[in-house]
Amino acid sequence: MIIDDVEKILEKPSFSKKDLLYLLNTSEKERTSLFRKAKETKGKYVGNKVYFRGLIEYSNYCKKNCFYCGIRAGNSRYARYRMTDSEVMEAVNFAYVNNYASIVIQSGEQTNKTFVSKVESTLKRISQQTEGKIHVTLSLGEQSEETYRRWFESGAHRYLLRIEVSNPKLYKKLHPNNYTHDFQRRLDALKTLRNVGYQVGTGVMIGLPFQTLSDLADDLLFFREFDIDMAGMGPYIEHVDTPLYQFRDELLPIKDRFDLSLKMVAILRIMMKNINIAATTAMQTIDPQGREKALMVGANVIMPNLTPAKYRHDYLLYENKPCLDEEAEECKSCLEARIHMAGDSIGYGEWGDSRHFHERSASQ
Ligand code: SAM
Ligand code: SF4
Repeated sequence: MIIDDVEKILEKPSFSKKDLLYLLNTSEKERTSLFRKAKETKGKYVGNKVYFRGLIEYSNYCKKNCFYCGIRAGNSRYARYRMTDSEVMEAVNFAYVNNYASIVIQSGEQTNKTFVSKVESTLKRISQQTEGKIHVTLSLGEQSEETYRRWFESGAHRYLLRIEVSNPKLYKKLHPNNYTHDFQRRLDALKTLRNVGYQVGTGVMIGLPFQTLSDLADDLLFFREFDIDMAGMGPYIEHVDTPLYQFRDELLPIKDRFDLSLKMVAILRIMMKNINIAATTAMQTIDPQGREKALMVGANVIMPNLTPAKYRHDYLLYENKPCLDEEAEECKSCLEARIHMAGDSIGYGEWGDSRHFHERSASQ
């Protein structure tokens, strides 16, 4: 009887908030139907290919103080670094010779002139030295329209900016109350990215203190409403040096946060069939096979870490981050085997752009 209810919801062309709450609440037994439908949807609309984005954690300097993040400005435990030009190019070269075709440059938020120019010149160099063969995704936080434009014109065409939570009241509880951490400002930044012409990705953390299933259902509706091209979602994992750590006893058990994250990925795949969805590192942190499990329920992008091992201990957003001492080469071979086990193949040499973006642009 219950299984019938899930099947009926899964057949609907569009989910209501009530449907989403039902799906997020599904028991272990019922969720098999959800996961099967998500896997089928992925195969049909984006294929069983996984695209690699070599992740470069460019710098851990950050001007912000988000209550959940280990590299927040207020945490003095980490040595602050910015990768040198030659280290960045070495990582880019690794991606190039290994046919990754795409990289992600991620960093703590910095908006000063030196940083903006440095990113601009790095983008130009990447484009020149790889003859435009490497596509670049940026994840460098909130910037002015002018900065977004300069970086776009220098060769970056995708941008990831997680909304973190789509409920403004919850956003307030997770950030200091000031203009640098303003929900509306973050939302406006997403809109600006869209206007400038980027393929826009966003996402949320799952299992945060004070977050309810209703909030998560609203997050999914937010993604649909905003018509996003890409998503990166993963479990919230506590970090001892952050203000939110004091609420650790109120959190869902870590396994439940992981299961909820899998459901979010599966539901989003069914709702937004042709977007790109990342299997995030935070999922691997909780379960060594976490990313492969996400691939099996709808994710189609993986971000192998290309950051030099010497910096990884200083880019700890949360505890127990995996592969801290593995250089890129070791990460690559371990990933290949895992992806094949999940029944997918790797889109080597393919940009793996969001199909949603191209279809959306063609219809405008
Ligand atoms: N500074 C940029 C920004 O915030 O958009 C990009 C880098 S930031 C480290 C990337 C993402 O890490 C954030 O969007 C956030 O969702 C995630 N993150 C930070 N702390 C986390 C935690 N404790 N658990 C899980 N994810 C976390
Ligand atoms: Fe800085 Fe991003 Fe961490 Fe916030 S989430 S503290 S902006 S690195």
